[in-house]
Amino acid sequence: MINWDEQERLAEELLTRLFPICRSITGNGLRESLAIIQEYTEFNLVEYPSGTQCFDWQIPDEWNISDAWIKDSSGREIVSFRKNNLHVMGYSEPFHKRLSFDELRPHLHSLPSLPDAIPYRTSYYSRNWGFCLTDRQLGQLDQSDTFEVFIDATLAPGSLSLLESIIGPPESNEYLVSTYCCHPSMANDNLSGVVLTTLLHRLMNQSLKLNKSYRFLILPETIGAIAYLAHHESIMRQSSGGFVVTTCAGPGPFGFKTTFQGNHLIDRVIRQTMREYTVEPVEYPFAPDGSDERQYSSPGFRIPVASITRDKYYEYSFYHTSLDDLSFVTPQNLVSTLRLYWSCIQKLEKESTFRSLNPNGEVQLGRRGLYPQTGGALKQSAAGEGDKIEDGTSDVLTPRQADPVDAITWFLFLADGEHSLLSMAERSGVPFDQLYSIALELEKQGLCSAN
Ligand code: ZN
Repeated sequence: MINWDEQERLAEELLTRLFPICRSITGNGLRESLAIIQEYTEFNLVEYPSGTQCFDWQIPDEWNISDAWIKDSSGREIVSFRKNNLHVMGYSEPFHKRLSFDELRPHLHSLPSLPDAIPYRTSYYSRNWGFCLTDRQLGQLDQSDTFEVFIDATLAPGSLSLLESIIGPPESNEYLVSTYCCHPSMANDNLSGVVLTTLLHRLMNQSLKLNKSYRFLILPETIGAIAYLAHHESIMRQSSGGFVVTTCAGPGPFGFKTTFQGNHLIDRVIRQTMREYTVEPVEYPFAPDGSDERQYSSPGFRIPVASITRDKYYEYSFYHTSLDDLSFVTPQNLVSTLRLYWSCIQKLEKESTFRSLNPNGEVQLGRRGLYPQTGGALKQSAAGEGDKIEDGTSDVLTPRQADPVDAITWFLFLADGEHSLLSMAERSGVPFDQLYSIALELEKQGLCSAN
């Protein structure tokens, strides 16, 4: 059994350690974050040099920043990178000059709709510099003053860093679990995804003898996924599908962004898991937006990838701002999503088809001790205790358990060698894991066999 409290403790520890680091699509902050992840589970570090052509893209120069500030004419620091790394636009080029307000203004970014939030801005592919500040800070600047602007950064050939791990038997179907690790200090987008992916990998690596194989990737969004695909074209084209893990620890509702295909095994596994936990997620049909599903599902690859979210990107007002911080997410919410992903993985692992060895009429359950001895007990209490998931409103969600006799009856009825465990679960409403346990038990008793 998995100790979910321990997962929450690890989630909190990882969130706290990783949050302050200034990450980008390249650079030492990204490397430092990946090294911390490697302390928790086994991943390999991969580096692709700047300038490498990857399909229509090129790995950019590496960006590193040590300091940045704006001072007014009295030498008072108005904006400082040391206070919050979101204050500097990602990939700002080095700069040091005294400017009038009018010269400075085009380089300042604020968010009038959230006057206390620092927005998150980047300029990866066109050389520029900029500062992000709260709208309140912007309003307080003296427009007749002059400002000293300093950005101590380097943009030079280096490399793009990512983590890769392939677990499970190599001859089996391979699934993908991918997340992006390029955002600086913001918690739900996308530190939550990084932490969940780390913990999921750790759990699968430590506690499962896997039947399928899984390719885990933690990489910078867009360019990282494109670079990885370009370096693994043929193997990635064979991927059986998977998950893009993102924005999964907010206080809001669960979400489910479907695969491009919409009713692929991955979608069915997620829908069935949600149904078992009585979670009604906001369902987002696939669109070519969001994260790296745009790359993995592009025409050349068409890997079916889906996401389970809690406060999905675009859908919460703190998205891409400094207010998406460690007070917005909780380790409990993160682990609730982790448990849904875990349940999906269980289904991928155990999905198989069984055939009843007594297909002609009903099996006589009583003779085999599979039927309650006291007739009246039948269909009386269907709900079992089972696992519990806390949702954001502190309601406890319980995965449903079907009446044991109903479950066996359904299993034997559907064990025709055509219905897989997942299609049995979809058809009968009996939870997947319950059907799986029945399959093992009846197989032992010689009543069914794996197809
Ligand atoms: Zn983002």
